[in-house]
Amino acid sequence: MIEKVVLMCGAGHSGSTLLGLVLGSHSQAFYGGEMKKTNFLHNPKYPPRKRFCKFCGPDCPVWSDFRPGPGAWTHAELARKVGLPVVVDSSKDLDWINEHLGHAEKAGARAYLIYLQRDGRAVFNSRVRKGGKAPERLALDWKEKILQSNQLFEAYQGPKLRLRYEHFALQPHLTVERLCQFIGIPFEPAMLEFASFDHHPLGGNAGTQYLVARAQESPARFSLSKERKEYYDKNGSQIRLDLRWREELSPELLALFQSLAGAENQELAWDEDLPAQP
Ligand SMILES: [Zn+2]
Repeated sequence: MIEKVVLMCGAGHSGSTLLGLVLGSHSQAFYGGEMKKTNFLHNPKYPPRKRFCKFCGPDCPVWSDFRPGPGAWTHAELARKVGLPVVVDSSKDLDWINEHLGHAEKAGARAYLIYLQRDGRAVFNSRVRKGGKAPERLALDWKEKILQSNQLFEAYQGPKLRLRYEHFALQPHLTVERLCQFIGIPFEPAMLEFASFDHHPLGGNAGTQYLVARAQESPARFSLSKERKEYYDKNGSQIRLDLRWREELSPELLALFQSLAGAENQELAWDEDLPAQP
């Protein structure tokens, strides 16, 4: 039976897939990925990457026959299916989060809200790299998402925590220990070895997931660009701070982001240098 649900808010490309995989490596927790994508399950109108488990594809033991009955709460059904009391969801969609905070309350489950925050310039760079939208639009989308996430986080009266991606990446052990304390589950050091566990997420960052697939010797499912694959191959599944934006973002794009969203990024800007290698 479900006891706890962990929901994440914030902008995409802020490390939520990594955080989900780490939390989902706890013996009491299951990471469902971006569970808003349960809306796409069994609907052939949507592309496979939106409606199948990112690791198993159509033959997933968790999602392939997952069909909550009418009126059932998705997260409670999932907890029952996998036999674990804690469900982790990295959807970040604000309407979805609000809806499921409400469901949790009705079901008597405790809902924990984590606001994952990352330097907007890094998020912007990831989105630009992914392409598909004009940089102006991406900067404005980021700003809008941050303003809305701030509102949601401030309004929520239950257990909540702000977590900086940069702290998580630089001090994973300490951060995850603190997170476990927050959620009220005993810290398990093996969680940091997230790539050695089985996961069944819907949606999420293919680069981070590639690390898991590679550790489990099934990397074929993820088609990353050559540069991206090289980056992940070089760094392995050790959690580390990703500051690629400092090399990749052109001065023009940086100036554009600063002019459109610099004020909102002021608190989030991470300008510290990396600690010296031990
Ligand atoms: Zn699966």
